[in-house]
Amino acid sequence: MTATATAGRITARIPTLLAAEEVSKYYGADGSHVLVLDRITLELRDGEFVALLGPSGSGKSTLLRILAGLLSPSSGEVRVHGEPLRGVNPFAAMVFQSFALFPWLTVLQNVELGLLHKRGLKSEERRQRALAALDLVGLDGFEHAYPRELSGGMKQRVGFARALVREPEMLFLDEPFSALDVLAAENLRGDLLDLWLARKIPTRAILMVTHNIDEAVTLADRLLIFSANPGRIRAELPGLPLAERLSKGQTHAELVDTIYRIMTNPREEIERLLPQARILQRPAAPTSPVLPHADVGELTGFLERLTALGGREDLFELARDLQLEADELLPLVEAAQLLEFTRVEEGDVVLTETGRTFATADLLQRKELFRQIVAERVEWIREIVWTLRVAPRHRQAEDWIVRRLEEHFSPAEARRQLETAIEWGRYAELFAYDEHSGILYLEENGA
Ligand code: ADP
Ligand code: MG
Repeated sequence: MTATATAGRITARIPTLLAAEEVSKYYGADGSHVLVLDRITLELRDGEFVALLGPSGSGKSTLLRILAGLLSPSSGEVRVHGEPLRGVNPFAAMVFQSFALFPWLTVLQNVELGLLHKRGLKSEERRQRALAALDLVGLDGFEHAYPRELSGGMKQRVGFARALVREPEMLFLDEPFSALDVLAAENLRGDLLDLWLARKIPTRAILMVTHNIDEAVTLADRLLIFSANPGRIRAELPGLPLAERLSKGQTHAELVDTIYRIMTNPREEIERLLPQARILQRPAAPTSPVLPHADVGELTGFLERLTALGGREDLFELARDLQLEADELLPLVEAAQLLEFTRVEEGDVVLTETGRTFATADLLQRKELFRQIVAERVEWIREIVWTLRVAPRHRQAEDWIVRRLEEHFSPAEARRQLETAIEWGRYAELFAYDEHSGILYLEENGA
């Protein structure tokens, strides 16, 4: 196994099995056109296990489906062995998080489905190959069981057998362990690693999508770290040497921690934390962020308290000091971050210059500062103000905004986003709101 050869420099001579070049994907035929993947470029090379690590909703499944040829990109190209991919990728097989088994078919029949594309295959040969695949994943004896009789772990073993029966050159795994309980996941992960390392399967490369950092660090020769909205590859880094991955010692734990810090902070300096990483794409600036549901009065109190504590405090200490539960503190911290009143450093909340100014200002100055920052940082609130400015009599029904928000959020969340925006917008005196009619409007002398 040439895992160590995948550390970036030496890889040039290793054959590339699959390449994505500047692949972008938009969703929304109704014109909403949400960009889900933004110019993704990656390679999958002979002999490597690559983990693609990203938050949920970052487009990981979409990317896998594009690489498997189940979905076409809006722009860019996928090449398999140097040839542009048209239709389904014949060299790949996929394992899904949801198992995707047919409940009315037996285990054996489900696995035989993996060979459906092989037209000329005799039924006896299909059966023999399916039995061999079941043997490989430790399910001999369960051929005639139905999926409902199996535990989650065993169901996913069927999922693996259905993929492996094709003897795929490339195996794509879409969060294959995340629906399993901890032990079943651990067990199956170990078995997969054994099949792969001992070359019991003819598969030449594995691409696994996951949001589980520990899992990615344990399995991968190379890691790609994704950011969301739109999906981009922030960084690529070599995996740990196999021995350190298997022993799960100190270096393993440290790498998991560092990646966690990077994934939870779009501005984290990857160069400093992980000198071995290659920086690829910067995460998009959150122009239309989700508003944390923070009350302005509470936010003010939070910033005043932080000032009184010297401008820096540990998150847990702060929660204790303010007698807030984590779920009450979180929106305040998120709002303070969004408005650049604070930043989070190594688990401490640190007041910025702007935050200090806000916390020590009088009411009028506060409103003015809040107004400037909200209008600057929250694009869709700025859009509301602009729309009111050009609307007849500077009035607009809130339903219009809810409909706009529903392009990005569930109906309930769209409603909550609007309520928070109204609270912030009124405080900032960016616009006014009539509760009875549900109308937003600009005051005579308004913004
Ligand atoms: P991940 O696998 O990283 O969780 P997905 O690729 O499933 O992400 O989805 C990325 C984004 O695209 C999500 O915001 C999701 O709601 C959206 N999305 C996924 N599939 C579709 C679809 N068929 N139509 C419209 N939007 C979709
Ligand atoms: Mg997914």
